[in-house]
Amino acid sequence: MIPFHIPYRATREFEYLQELIASSNQRSGNGNFYSRCQQLVQEVFQFKNPIFTNSCTDALELAVLLLDIKPGDEVILPSYTFVSTANAFLLRGARLVFCDSQTDEPNIDITLIPKLLTEKTKAVVVVHYGGRSCDMELLMQLSKQYGFAVVEDAAQCIGAKYTNIPTSDFIGTRANLSAFSFHDTKNLHCGEGGLLVINDEKFVNRAEIIKDKGTNRGQFNRGEIDKYTWVDIGSSYLPGEYNMAVLLAQLQEWEIVTRARQKIWTIYHAVFGSFSDFLPPLSAGNGHNYYLTFKSTIQRNDFAKRMHSKGIQTAFHYQPLHASNMGKSLGMQPHLPHADKFGNGLLRFPLYPDLSESQVHYIAESALNCLNQVST
Ligand SMILES: *Cc1c(COP(=O)(O)O)cnc(C)c1O
Repeated sequence: MIPFHIPYRATREFEYLQELIASSNQRSGNGNFYSRCQQLVQEVFQFKNPIFTNSCTDALELAVLLLDIKPGDEVILPSYTFVSTANAFLLRGARLVFCDSQTDEPNIDITLIPKLLTEKTKAVVVVHYGGRSCDMELLMQLSKQYGFAVVEDAAQCIGAKYTNIPTSDFIGTRANLSAFSFHDTKNLHCGEGGLLVINDEKFVNRAEIIKDKGTNRGQFNRGEIDKYTWVDIGSSYLPGEYNMAVLLAQLQEWEIVTRARQKIWTIYHAVFGSFSDFLPPLSAGNGHNYYLTFKSTIQRNDFAKRMHSKGIQTAFHYQPLHASNMGKSLGMQPHLPHADKFGNGLLRFPLYPDLSESQVHYIAESALNCLNQVST
């Protein structure tokens, strides 16, 4: 069986763990490996004020605390996303306003946002699905015009660049706050891990305090004050050094991983790119995933079953949040046909550096066979 996913293993993981264990350095957060990870993402991706966390979920929760979201505030977000995008805001009592996907890809349709804005709108969250960016030029323009904050749920985006910005900067450098995941289903990982990038300088001081459990310990560590104390609300988002040791090894190989994934994506796309009936993805992004979108759940599941019988695991993805049990219990029944379409029809193919080229060709050939069988 070709599994849907195999987490990447970086060369130096063991070496760095050994280095940590042999040393007398601290194992708690903010240590030597934490600093090295910070330095790397600042240098390589130009990420400002990076704060590593235990998950992207953590990073999103930290972002929402920084935005000072209060009960009754509204947030606009895509329905076609992971639950954490919504939970982070719901935990602070926000009202969720779900927005539809684009016709041709799962990303939020930014042109619909002006119609959803009210006086209570505090933030808009976008998810760059599969590491393919939304139109951030347009979104940041709207943000300026209407005065809402922009959060990027960039969970799948490490190493991806904006596709619609001429300078092609890395995703994570445009929004007020950008959250990444290093869960082992993502391109780079440390089992569980996350990162918040703070592009809006006004959040920097408070972010340090909140992640230090609401204390001014950071200032104390830098010798700026002589004792530290409780100054704000806070929580424990800091990852320990074991995770950061593994993450450093992974981050150092970001280019190898991204290239290997983009190469597999390109092979798939050469085979499926012309199947416009199945809406293949528009660009490789960071090669996070490859998918086809079927007309119905029945057709998709039939295809998946046929692939399975050829020894190939595939995976569908999100159930649109507005149509979930929780979404319904919140009393919202928006009509979001494109989110529904991707929820019902999208199916992802295996895509990871451990796949051999012959496996990729076998998957593509098998898929062509199965497509002929399901579409008749
Ligand atoms: C994976 C993912 C998350 C959650 O990441 P964790 O690190 O597991 O918390 C959130 N949003 C999106 C879009 C994701 O793909």
